[in-house]
Amino acid sequence: MNGDTPKIDNYIGGAFVPPSTNEYLPVHNPADGSILAGVAVSNAADVDQAVAAAEAALPAWSHMTIKARAAIMLKFHALVRDNAGALAALIVKENGKNMTEALADVAKGNETVEYACGLSLVAAGQTMRVSSVVQCEDRRVPLGVVASIVPFNFPFMVPMWTMPIALVLGNTFILKPSEKVPMTMHAVAALIEKAGFPPGVFQMVNGTKVAVESLIANPAVKAITFVGSSPVAKIVSDASRSLNKRCTALGGAKNHLVALDDCELEGAAADITVSFAGCAGQRCMAASVLLTLGQQTNLVNAIQTKAAAIAPGVGPGQLGPVIDEASYKKIISYIAAAEDSGAKVLLDGRSWKKEKGNWIGPTILLHKSAKDKTVTDEVFGPVLSIYECSSWEEAIEVENASPFGNAASVYTTNGGNADWFLTRFRAAMLGVNIGIPVPREPFSFGGLYGTSSKYGDMDITGAPCMEFFSNRIKVTSKWPVQRTSVQATLPEANGAMDHANFAGTM
Ligand code: NAD
Repeated sequence: MNGDTPKIDNYIGGAFVPPSTNEYLPVHNPADGSILAGVAVSNAADVDQAVAAAEAALPAWSHMTIKARAAIMLKFHALVRDNAGALAALIVKENGKNMTEALADVAKGNETVEYACGLSLVAAGQTMRVSSVVQCEDRRVPLGVVASIVPFNFPFMVPMWTMPIALVLGNTFILKPSEKVPMTMHAVAALIEKAGFPPGVFQMVNGTKVAVESLIANPAVKAITFVGSSPVAKIVSDASRSLNKRCTALGGAKNHLVALDDCELEGAAADITVSFAGCAGQRCMAASVLLTLGQQTNLVNAIQTKAAAIAPGVGPGQLGPVIDEASYKKIISYIAAAEDSGAKVLLDGRSWKKEKGNWIGPTILLHKSAKDKTVTDEVFGPVLSIYECSSWEEAIEVENASPFGNAASVYTTNGGNADWFLTRFRAAMLGVNIGIPVPREPFSFGGLYGTSSKYGDMDITGAPCMEFFSNRIKVTSKWPVQRTSVQATLPEANGAMDHANFAGTM
């Protein structure tokens, strides 16, 4: 980095501010390794400054009506739509997605913004008379200051899984973006300001482990969401819950696709290829294991042909690089480990290696054992592990043995066959004839509780996210009737007072 390197500072109290450490980490373009920017490395003092600003903004923001908050969010929604191209260009640069994938990242994120704009339709509390004079009321109120920690793989969409819902419900919000892709949300902060969010309602603290630990430790932060790798999800969940904070922490994944011999071959092959190779395999919903029933040569050949036709690049239909060198080396080591354990390399993406950048092409491995670590661990690259099962039961056994529980899908033209698998998979997001079974609003997103794909409470997005960012306050009221003799003579007492003439008395 030199003096001309653009700086990605924190966003606190409606202004960009440098970190107190005065330290910056380089942000690399994964396509060629060049330095795009320097991102702030924040410490506890920076976090405390952001939390103080969020606390100061909370009373006014939380006392606005939900409709008034949603009206500001609606302006933000329009600004994102109008600036989608510019945001997508930043995603291509810092993340390495192709332009089509980057535009989809923005569009899908904006769907959650749209959902949040309509929360007033579904976020009302409840009220009921529970005896002749006692009324119970359940009011939905914000938690206070909340924080979200996000990964590199969807620079816009994942922050939008929580931010719009938390804000419309009246919380103030602190985001810790991924230090690998901070530029997109830096640009989004300007749109947030333009939309008219008051200063302090939305904050951004950049950095790494220390910033995350400081957010969890700060007593004013009431809830934490995390999306990222399983080991860090567990750390964040354990630390948050030990402090009695609400926490949802989504971890890594290993998603299984089962192709039955009655599947529609061309459609399945196209879908499976997009699922394992799209976004360079860096989707938590990416297919990483294909379980066939015996040898399904025609299907495997069709996938191989489609994957081999993909070219390196960030244009439409091309395949971009993986995020960094560490990731590249990890993927290469998993391919080598598979070869060592006897797997056949049907398509070798290592041929894409370039002098600069983290380029690896679609890779297809045919394994002899479903216990190979390339089959069981999260690789997070464009690698498809194929394993030939001898029966449906064996396919379920392999899928169920995974420590992850994110997604699974079955390809078949028979509804009964599909249901056989849907009732036996051990994952929370299931698909039929779809390689990326992402539930869309108003449905919620999240892996199976109790697996390495999900720690903590509730799902992210949808109605569970609305619950996550609300406190339920229970009010029980007793109002015995105490009529005076004058009131008893008013028309109301005879049941004759309607809303119109009541209004005239006010
Ligand atoms: P990561 O766990 O390395 O980082 C995620 C976030 O945690 C970043 O903001 C990072 O700065 C922070 N962090 C890193 N180490 C930390 C530590 N020791 N203590 C506290 N914070 C720390 O994940 P990543 O590499 O950015 O993203 C890829 C991972 O995210 C994959 O495992 C992928 O499956 C997962 N992911 C899961 C979902 C899901 O919905 N389950 C969605 C997207 C990505």
